[in-house]
Amino acid sequence: IGFNLFTQLEDDTLKEAVRSSLTHGSGYYEDVYRSVTGNKSTAVRALMRGIQDEEGGFIGGVGLVEDFSARRDAEALIEYQAYYDQLTELPNRRLLLRRLEQAVANCRRHDHVEALLFFDLDDFKRINDSLGHSYGDQLLREMAARLQRNLRTEDTPARLSGDEFAAVLERLGPDLGDAALIVERIAAKLLSVLQHSLSDNAHSLQVTASIGISLFPLGHGSPEALMQEADMALNQAKEAGRNGFVFFDPVQQRLQRSRMLLELDMREAAGRGQFQLYCQRQVDAQGAVLGAEVLLRWEHPQRGMVSPAEFIPLAEDNRQIIAIDHWVLESACLQLSRFAERPETQALTLAVNISTLQFREADFVDQVRQMLDETGAPPHRLKLEVTEGSFLERPDEARETMLALKALGITFALDDFGTGFSSLAYLNRLPLDQLKIDQSFVSDLPDDPASDSIVASTIALAHSLGLEVIAEGVESEAQRAWLEEHGCLMFQGYLFGRPQPLDEFETALRD
Ligand code: C2E
Ligand code: MG
Ligand code: MG
Repeated sequence: IGFNLFTQLEDDTLKEAVRSSLTHGSGYYEDVYRSVTGNKSTAVRALMRGIQDEEGGFIGGVGLVEDFSARRDAEALIEYQAYYDQLTELPNRRLLLRRLEQAVANCRRHDHVEALLFFDLDDFKRINDSLGHSYGDQLLREMAARLQRNLRTEDTPARLSGDEFAAVLERLGPDLGDAALIVERIAAKLLSVLQHSLSDNAHSLQVTASIGISLFPLGHGSPEALMQEADMALNQAKEAGRNGFVFFDPVQQRLQRSRMLLELDMREAAGRGQFQLYCQRQVDAQGAVLGAEVLLRWEHPQRGMVSPAEFIPLAEDNRQIIAIDHWVLESACLQLSRFAERPETQALTLAVNISTLQFREADFVDQVRQMLDETGAPPHRLKLEVTEGSFLERPDEARETMLALKALGITFALDDFGTGFSSLAYLNRLPLDQLKIDQSFVSDLPDDPASDSIVASTIALAHSLGLEVIAEGVESEAQRAWLEEHGCLMFQGYLFGRPQPLDEFETALRD
């Protein structure tokens, strides 16, 4: 069919796009659309050529609208597939980029704010794994349908890949603040319409999504940059927990950049010898040294000492912690074998922090066994500090791992006790040897009634379960005395010594 398509266009945005490519561009306008009539939707391709009046001015266009669904030939199908996602029939990344280009241009021309939203299903991988791929596909189609139903017709939803979706929201008015309010409302609504529960006979799952948003007030930035911004915001939304939305924020961007740089440096740190082991002594009620906790230090060439509190969480995110912990553990074993050679150090224990990821490695027990063999370290001098997080998921496997390590002679301390979920149920099921009272409670001693009673009951609990108990972060004599009085007879903290380089620790002990 041929007709003056241009005059029939109801959408101003589209009209503008057509006008500009007909007058400035190739003289042709070509695009792929989904045309919706009632509840029937078809893919169409529009091809248009401009019509000029006698003075050469633009007065309209002659066009062809082709129904892809009706045409069966391969070329049309290929073209359709190039722009639409087969599973959900939504525009794909390529078509989204095109729409985004148009949106950026419109934004500049009309001084309107527009927005790009990125969506991601929370825990999609888990859903896919537990319910199967056909369920996963069904869920993605459901998600697409919900998105499409709840956006205005001028907004473009798209599927980018996997469980990532996007939408371009157009013409949000001239004021950035007002536009942000509108988008906030839309995002909240989308979150609630995307949320639903899925169940088969065996499982029932709550489906939620997270949204990252970038606003483009003046058409600044290329479509690619906007996509990056929305993606960064999405990452933040996911980090903040599920079922939420986050606007792109340049300060956050800088933070993320610094994190990325730190992460890159971390990859090289071990090879460049920038990691060092520090030791902090652990003492008994008479002040005699029982051993030490091994604490990691990173001496960065530009940043100086980077605190483990800063880089360990990063290393956990990118899984580098597994290699780092391996190195720490191996170095500690080496040190223990050196201690074993001298009478004044042979009774010392070393406590090593083990991250949850490392603890859950399938071959963790073998790794440790191998390190002990290779270094000749006495296993009963090695203590592993684990946290509750290591037992929350798959407690039976955690128990097996601990039992296998205990069989080698290794002991276990539960670090940061009282700061997590503190489910007491696992305490007597796991082969622990020691509870470590977290420094956040110790620092409030002895005058804070809440901490006093938490610490007193932790000590009583340890005793009744037959576990040792040690307090960390002991800074004052008053704290030490209070702890001793309440039955805690092992201590670690600045009062007795700060963390010091391993060799200094060794010489101090010998002297
Ligand atoms: P953590 O295992 O609870 O270690 C105790 C932290 O308290 C250490 O901080 C130590 O320097 C600090 N501390 C000791 N005594 C006192 C005191 O009297 N007052 C105060 N205010 N603080 C005290 P650090 O060395 O910065 O380590 C922080 C955390 O990083 C550790 O907490 C541990 O969770 C983690 N970490 C350190 N080294 C390693 C490692 O090699 N592997 C793993 N996975 N994690 C590590
Ligand atoms: Mg520790
Ligand atoms: Mg601790």
